[in-house]
Amino acid sequence: MRKPLILAGITVLLAAGPAMAQENRPRSFVIVGATVAEGSTRPPRKANVRVRGDRIVDVGNFKPRTSEPIVDGEGLLLAPGFIDPHNHSTEGLETEPAAASQVSQGITTVVLGQDGGSPWPIAEYLEARRKGPPAVNVVMMVGHATVRQQVMGDDFRRAATAEEIARMTALVEQGMKEGASGLSSGLEYEVGSYATTEEVVALARVAAKHKGLYISHIRDEADRTLEAVREVITIAEQARIPAQITHIKLGTVGVWGKTAEVIRMVEEARSRGLDVTADCYPYTAWMSNLKVLVPNKQWKDPASVQKALADVGGGKNITIAHLPSQPEYVGRNLEEIAHAAGISEIELYIRIVDDERAAIIGHTMTEEDMRAFYAQPWVMVSSDGGIGIAHPRGAGAYPRVLGRFVRQRQWLTLTEAIRKMTSLPAQRFKLKDRGLIRKGMKADLVLFNAGVVLDNSTFAEPFKLADGIEKVFVNGVLVWNLGRATGERPGRVLPEK
Ligand SMILES: [Zn+2]
Repeated sequence: MRKPLILAGITVLLAAGPAMAQENRPRSFVIVGATVAEGSTRPPRKANVRVRGDRIVDVGNFKPRTSEPIVDGEGLLLAPGFIDPHNHSTEGLETEPAAASQVSQGITTVVLGQDGGSPWPIAEYLEARRKGPPAVNVVMMVGHATVRQQVMGDDFRRAATAEEIARMTALVEQGMKEGASGLSSGLEYEVGSYATTEEVVALARVAAKHKGLYISHIRDEADRTLEAVREVITIAEQARIPAQITHIKLGTVGVWGKTAEVIRMVEEARSRGLDVTADCYPYTAWMSNLKVLVPNKQWKDPASVQKALADVGGGKNITIAHLPSQPEYVGRNLEEIAHAAGISEIELYIRIVDDERAAIIGHTMTEEDMRAFYAQPWVMVSSDGGIGIAHPRGAGAYPRVLGRFVRQRQWLTLTEAIRKMTSLPAQRFKLKDRGLIRKGMKADLVLFNAGVVLDNSTFAEPFKLADGIEKVFVNGVLVWNLGRATGERPGRVLPEK
């Protein structure tokens, strides 16, 4: 008699759970009448979709059973959940696991550990997410700068020795075994910038051995972009690894319009059989620290600063987003601040550059370049945002593509935009059962109004949530419903073992 009692106990526990949980987690349900953009190149078509547990079990013109819960999709578009290949919610998922700013955009999977920086050890971070899951699924990369600092400490402003590189490769090996999906680098940033190409190749080889991806914030996104793209291709070739140029952009006046050259380089590499792709966020303004502005690192040299400011079209294009030492400057651009203070933009920059926590937004890209990148079938959508990111991309990236670039300007078809948000990144991160609405795939789903969807976040109000995303499911569980996070946290660490 013991066994049935225990089983009964479990049944009682489940039944006594919060009402919300039952409402958001029916055993099976059918989304009826939606137009399904399945995530591939296939044009959207009307179909019903049945979800059982965490999977899609039927797609087609079947009739729901009388007892089956129904989600009305009439007039709406149903897409696979969006997979963000460059997301900065590593800390945010700890403090805000319901991830409202992410799920409200339709994001159901975030790839973390970007730009060379990952939590360490990776196993600990991922284990904490398994024990206390967030609303979204998590993919993790090993950060190159993270392992570099583990080995070199504060003595990183030089090339690493062979022995140090060997120790770094052991740490990448550890990270991959602990669940990372590849290696990320941020070669424009302080710690990564001192690494030679050979060092990165050595580490990328380890990631390749574990079937990982190399994703890079490349060495230069300004005047030397072409050289930096060439370096990614070299790394892909020498380490025999698939590679991704992350948040691809042309960020200074001198390289504006050179998209054709960048695209030609990548196409040429792809035609040689190298697996090189890119992701792109839908804004013409970047956000970073103060120091990236001066690529030669001569932050206090007036001539270097003058050149750097000229390269971005002047201080009017650089807005302070965060500056603990001078909070009154936040929201203003360098030209305004300098003018009000009666000093030059150069002097202003030299005065504030030592504030390590500073963040700036640079309005230094062009829409024509962004449009040309998005036109490439190997360029996917990313946000470079995340929970609490004070740039509109933190809350608006995906609805911005769907609302502005698909509906309003028709740069992309809806089918192609959805593919760039779903199956394309899914292939990249080897998420074999996600990114498509097909029988047997996991039920990460976004139900949205294609005629309404639009970002509302701006530089003045970066946290304003978007319109038009009606329901979002992660692993079959409703996480976003009509303007609110449900509080459900069904996210998993991917890929699942
Ligand atoms: Zn970056």
